[in-house]
Amino acid sequence: MILLDYIVNLSIFSLMVSTPLVIRSFSSHRSLKQLRIWVGVYAGVVSILLVALSIHQQGYSYDIRYAPVILVFAYLGPIAGTITGGFALFARLFSSGHWTPAIIGWILIMISFIIIHILTKRHLPVKKCLYLYVSYVVIYIVTVPIIFNVLRHEPLFHFQYMLFVLLGVILGALLIESYERLHRIIIEKKQMEKSLAESESNYRLIAENTSDLIMVMKRDHSVQYFSPSHELVLGYRGVKLEKFELCKFIHPDDVRMFRDTIEWMFENKASVSMEFRFHHKDGYWIEFESRCMPVECENNSVEHIVIISRDISERKKAEEILLQSEKLSIVGELAAGVAHEIRNPLTTIKGFIQLYKKEKGPIEFNELLLSELERIETITSELLSLGKPQAIQLKKTDLRDLVESILELLAPQALMNNIQFKLTFENPDFLIICERNQLKQVFLNLLKNAFEAMPEGGEIHVHLRNGIDGTVIISVRDEGCGIPEELLPRLGEPFYTLKEKGTGLGLMICHKLIKQHHGRIHYQSEIGEGTLVEITLPVAS
Ligand code: ADP
Ligand code: MG
Repeated sequence: MILLDYIVNLSIFSLMVSTPLVIRSFSSHRSLKQLRIWVGVYAGVVSILLVALSIHQQGYSYDIRYAPVILVFAYLGPIAGTITGGFALFARLFSSGHWTPAIIGWILIMISFIIIHILTKRHLPVKKCLYLYVSYVVIYIVTVPIIFNVLRHEPLFHFQYMLFVLLGVILGALLIESYERLHRIIIEKKQMEKSLAESESNYRLIAENTSDLIMVMKRDHSVQYFSPSHELVLGYRGVKLEKFELCKFIHPDDVRMFRDTIEWMFENKASVSMEFRFHHKDGYWIEFESRCMPVECENNSVEHIVIISRDISERKKAEEILLQSEKLSIVGELAAGVAHEIRNPLTTIKGFIQLYKKEKGPIEFNELLLSELERIETITSELLSLGKPQAIQLKKTDLRDLVESILELLAPQALMNNIQFKLTFENPDFLIICERNQLKQVFLNLLKNAFEAMPEGGEIHVHLRNGIDGTVIISVRDEGCGIPEELLPRLGEPFYTLKEKGTGLGLMICHKLIKQHHGRIHYQSEIGEGTLVEITLPVAS
């Protein structure tokens, strides 16, 4: 019978513990201080109920009124705990006699609970429950059977009593802990949802108001998202673009590079930058510079690529103008040398003509005359082709041939500056794919710098050799003033110059053009010894 009564007791207790916890999980928090007092009162009412339900046996009633007191002390501290304890004592005094042991025991328990609360402030509530329960047991045994001699020879009774309270505490703590955990999970989830919604709205705000063009591309090259800026730059409505495969809007010459790059990214999961032309609704092409980033899913595969682009048409135009003006300035500087170079054959020709005139005979175009005329033609057409803006045409070219033509063009100026060229090569030819005029401009800039570094004259060594992995290396070595080591990394920066009348654009243009040819530039220099510039370019496959 006692067991059945006890189970009823325990069930009602657990229902009383769970109810406020469940209510709390549906409602939001109130101020904690007030809440503590109210929970203390509530737990006090529970302990009154537990006293009312107490089990009577062998003339002594026993109840689990201290279970809520221990739990409230452990979870809410001494104020709420003492309120609950007060209710418990009240109920006990009203329900039966033996007031002295009940009151003394209560006072001792409250004091020890407060001390334990102070000593175990940093401990988890579950641990506190254990300490509080142990101190309760010690005080109970010392006061009830030992001092007040209540049922001293019924150890089983006391054991049972202690066990019932223990089970009450364990059950209560389990319920509170599990509800707490659940509550934490719910709050975390709510917070996560809130921050997710916030960050999503932030990103959306950025994506929809930036002047950069953001798109998200799927594996099948269709587009999942187009930022509204596309509409502004390209003239299409986003919905229209989303229906088509992206490649349909890309310049036919760039499609292959675009597809290959995207495929490579899906396979290698790496970010890439590229430039391509995109079709405007009104029929013209817009130059895009894009940063493409793969987005990895949970299973580590890439399903999407984010492409952030900007319209660089204006920048390209400005670069073109810069390139052209720099080129013209070199051509202008070459003019003096060229005039000198042309004057020599002209003197020869003039001499011949005067001779013929004197002899009054018909003009005979002998070999020398023809070869001098050819020389004038070569030099002037070379100069013209350099100065004229031309459409970019990638062609298979022999690098040796190209270098030789540049050296020939510079020969008069070299002569004037007391400079000798030494051209050496390891193979008879070095075929590369390039835009001839652009590479000529690179070598002109390098050789011009070498000239300027050697005002007293000297030798410039140009050497061609094959590098590893299908590359060809052209090195230009001068015997000039050299460049301090700490300045080497700055070479190629726009407007970086140490010369009084320098522009600081020569090497910047070299870097840009060599990059366009998928090559690299490397510098090595020693002050007072000279400078070595090495350009590596891929050979034609
Ligand atoms: P600029 O010739 O107009 O100054 P560049 O971009 O061609 O601009 O060169 C930048 C700087 O790099 C030069 O001012 C010079 O100090 C240094 N430099 C480049 N090439 C050489 C070289 N061969 N020897 C010594 N210094 C060099
Ligand atoms: Mg220069």
